[in-house]
Amino acid sequence: MIAVTAFTFNPFQENTYVLHANGQAILIDPGCWNTAEERELETWLSDNALTPVRLVLTHAHIDHVLGCAWANKKYGLTPEVHRADLPLLKAAPRQGELYGVHCEASPEPLHFIDPKDPIEFDGQQLKVLFVPGHSPDTLPSSVKRTAS
Ligand SMILES: [Zn+2]
Repeated sequence: MIAVTAFTFNPFQENTYVLHANGQAILIDPGCWNTAEERELETWLSDNALTPVRLVLTHAHIDHVLGCAWANKKYGLTPEVHRADLPLLKAAPRQGELYGVHCEASPEPLHFIDPKDPIEFDGQQLKVLFVPGHSPDTLPSSVKRTAS
């Protein structure tokens, strides 16, 4: 059975979720921003004998990506996000400057999330929902076609 644990991190009070089962974990929207928050998540993962195996972003607004560089260095993970959000992910350090929040550049995704492809975890399939209205990856496909 997959369990979910939530953390609230960074000045934006963003929610980071950890899906976990059988010693493995998926980090969703790693918003851990400073050493104390990184240590909190590391310690919790270690105390629960969990190995992060995937790093998934619901979207790439700065509050959701502040911990991507840390997760890459600590666990060797690269973020998975919808392709349309790649410009936002790349712009996160600049977004941080505008908010006065340091954001280390995230590694680029090696794999993009597609709503047609469920996320496999612990022998189960997690359905990916396409939810319009908040970031580029959430625009309806008809809007994307007319905009290009
Ligand atoms: Zn957002």
